[in-house]
Amino acid sequence: MSDLDFPQARFLPWQQLQRQRLQQQIAASRLPHALLFAGIADIGKKNFAFALGAQLLCVNPDEGQACEQCAPCNLVKAGTHPDLRVVRPEESKLIVIDQIRSLSDWAAQTSQQGGSKVAILYPAERMNVNSANALLKSLEEPAPGTFFILVTDQPGRLLPTIRSRSQRIDFPVPGEEEAIPWLQSNYESSVDVSMLLAVAAGAPLKVVNQVDDDYLLRREKVIKETRDLIEGSITAVACASSLFNKKFPFEVYDSLYQLFSDALKSNLSHSNKMLKNKEIVPLIDSISRCYDATAILLVLESINACRAAISGSSNPNQQLLLESLMIKLTDVTQTNG
Ligand SMILES: [Zn+2]
Repeated sequence: MSDLDFPQARFLPWQQLQRQRLQQQIAASRLPHALLFAGIADIGKKNFAFALGAQLLCVNPDEGQACEQCAPCNLVKAGTHPDLRVVRPEESKLIVIDQIRSLSDWAAQTSQQGGSKVAILYPAERMNVNSANALLKSLEEPAPGTFFILVTDQPGRLLPTIRSRSQRIDFPVPGEEEAIPWLQSNYESSVDVSMLLAVAAGAPLKVVNQVDDDYLLRREKVIKETRDLIEGSITAVACASSLFNKKFPFEVYDSLYQLFSDALKSNLSHSNKMLKNKEIVPLIDSISRCYDATAILLVLESINACRAAISGSSNPNQQLLLESLMIKLTDVTQTNG
């Protein structure tokens, strides 16, 4: 792990409300020692966490922003500030108890630079029960001036005791009116950014980090193969084998989830008007014909279970997992179609 490959510390334009709320608490010296940032992936929660951390460590913050010039700011930028701790999975997929023990030792020491201390943990849902219980002790008996910022895409997977000891800040999916202008000035693309934003389910940083031409091609393949599967021209096993991608195991699930969520909306509203990607309309129509709303909800649940299985510690056979999902897709359509 390089200390420098941290997310850039910056507040994004769609984070004004969250920012105001925390700035008021900082101004009143009432910032809680444990914060939980929750919201879907790739909307800038980690950027916000690092920007807030930098501000708390800066000796001369200006209008709620780190000055980026003082000695602590330079240490933060270099990834070497002794009072900033970043905890994320290293060798395993999980945040393990040794990492939390080391964090607790650090939290118990006095600040080396004489100011605040900030720990940023992400993805917080990757703590197993032992790690989470170990962290609880630090959250229950916080040292003054020490702040824990937990960042998660899946707050429901955190222990309730962790959730109840943190102040939760929700980060909703940004509105297009903020996301599109930001993308237009931060991202070069020959394709219409509003289409890309729709492909990324509204997550602007996903557009920047993930949605390149190859991504769009892979997504097109998911759309085509899924349509063939639903129409019965290929088998579930063939479909899974064609779509299985070891390098990007989550993508197929992300694309399927989006398709079936769109199909659910279309199913419930009896209209395709809200679909931003016209390319998927024929597939959405096929899904709507073959599945009722209950079946679509079952599929969405299964997709989430697959994602959780891949990100968990059980190391399932990923190709078999995808096959079982594809079989379920055909099973549900046969019983309900
Ligand atoms: Zn500074």
